[in-house]
Amino acid sequence: MVIEDLEKYAKEFHIPIMEKDGIEFLTSYIKEHNHIQNILEIGCAIGYSAIKMALVRDNIHITTIERDQERYLKAVENVKAFHLEDRITILFKDAFDVIVNENYDLIFIDAAKSQYIKFFEKFTPYLNKDGVVFSDNLYFHGYTKQKTRIESKNLRQLVQKLRKYIVYLEENKNYVTEFYNIGDGIAITKRR
Ligand code: SAM
Repeated sequence: MVIEDLEKYAKEFHIPIMEKDGIEFLTSYIKEHNHIQNILEIGCAIGYSAIKMALVRDNIHITTIERDQERYLKAVENVKAFHLEDRITILFKDAFDVIVNENYDLIFIDAAKSQYIKFFEKFTPYLNKDGVVFSDNLYFHGYTKQKTRIESKNLRQLVQKLRKYIVYLEENKNYVTEFYNIGDGIAITKRR
């Protein structure tokens, strides 16, 4: 199996995986920061981004969380196909039910867009001193920057929550965030 097979599968079965330039940005960042070894990912889907991150260096370990059974099972299969079972731990759980007992160099938030503030608050206590948080989909296909009213109520509420998350990061006294116009909008957050 090659990584393109995962991209094809995601496209065919409408699995939302990271956009190409987004994942390149994330993996380049990991490559450039040698101290990053222990990664937590919230939102595994079929294991695409976890596998891409693990392939950066042999000393990287990833814990990734997925609550959808079908996607979890596919991720298990994919991780096996890449012989990465020793370095990628997949938890079949809702992220809010996960008990964390270690610290991470990088936390990647890529799950339910309406819950980003809650994910951030639950998991950042486990961020190492010089750790970083990556958050994906902050532009949400351009909707978070759209000035005109969004017709669909569900979409409008979701976009409002993402906008709240952006403000939350901008105004956070303990963390500093840089926003990047890459992929679907990525934020990198560090402790002040
Ligand atoms: N990071 C993946 C990649 O780029 O290959 C894509 C993840 S996809 C955008 C988001 C995934 O998060 C979905 O598969 C969804 O089922 C999962 N998810 C959403 N909310 C979750 C939660 N509270 N706990 C665990 N998984 C969650």
